[in-house]
Amino acid sequence: MSAAGGGQQPVAVSPGLYVVSTPIGNLRDITLRALDILSAADEVLAEDTRVAGKLMSAYGIKARLSPYHDHNGAERRPQILSRLADGGRIALISDAGTPLISDPGWKLVHDALEAGHKVYPVPGASALLAGLVASGLPSDRFMFAGFLPPKSGARKAALETLKHVPGTLVFYESGPRLAESLADLAAVLGGGRTAAVARELTKLFEETRRGTLTSLAEHYQTAGPPRGEIVILTGPPEEKTSTPGDLDAALRDALLTMPTKDAATSVAEALGLPRRDVYQRALQLKSENAG
Ligand code: SAM
Repeated sequence: MSAAGGGQQPVAVSPGLYVVSTPIGNLRDITLRALDILSAADEVLAEDTRVAGKLMSAYGIKARLSPYHDHNGAERRPQILSRLADGGRIALISDAGTPLISDPGWKLVHDALEAGHKVYPVPGASALLAGLVASGLPSDRFMFAGFLPPKSGARKAALETLKHVPGTLVFYESGPRLAESLADLAAVLGGGRTAAVARELTKLFEETRRGTLTSLAEHYQTAGPPRGEIVILTGPPEEKTSTPGDLDAALRDALLTMPTKDAATSVAEALGLPRRDVYQRALQLKSENAG
């Protein structure tokens, strides 16, 4: 029924919009199902038809390519929705990896669903997951934060909002901005945080460099901007470990200058403990002192 490589047989593909992942470097990182869908689609929407053309010719696929990107999306969406309404089978691809992930497509998927059309994922490569799994950083909880703002002030402000996220953070970055972004990450998240820079994943010069944010920032400041495409990852904030003794000492200090509730809030934040528990302990300490 289905086949990959040159000379595919036609496959039965239901009407709908297919969000198809393509390689992030190594051309062989494409699924058999992705090749089936791209061969069978009535239209393949591509971020850049020249890039898509190379992929199609590598696999001997004669796709009907048309451009879909941020600059023509608003104009193209009504035409695409009407093709879907006519029973069209439409595939969406980006230049690399998974569409919608720091790439166009979100509005199209949203509008297609609103109009009652089927949307099918055809999963595959994405730099964020490739970077995560080779980083050595915790993968049980992570947050993808896309590209950071290009200017340092806005970048630091964005990082402030991510500082306490209790998981690995994943960012996309370019070579020329890498060193200054790492320096801002170190300044806001703390230079001792463990981190990794994953570069040219699945390609010839693939490299994942691990270290603290400070050591990585220093390395790229000295070495200069690296070539190629980059994922930055930072480990979660260090868990604060405090003993009951630390809690009591901090509470006694705080109670000297603050009302009980404020003291509990401030100590709970400082030690990373639940406010309710800290408040209960503050009440106990106060009654012990009064007795
Ligand atoms: N949609 C893509 C995906 O699923 O990964 C990402 C598209 S985004 C416009 C491009 C960014 O992804 C690059 O600037 C880089 O940060 C990252 N990236 C893409 N390919 C990569 C690779 N092979 N190695 C490292 N990072 C990569």
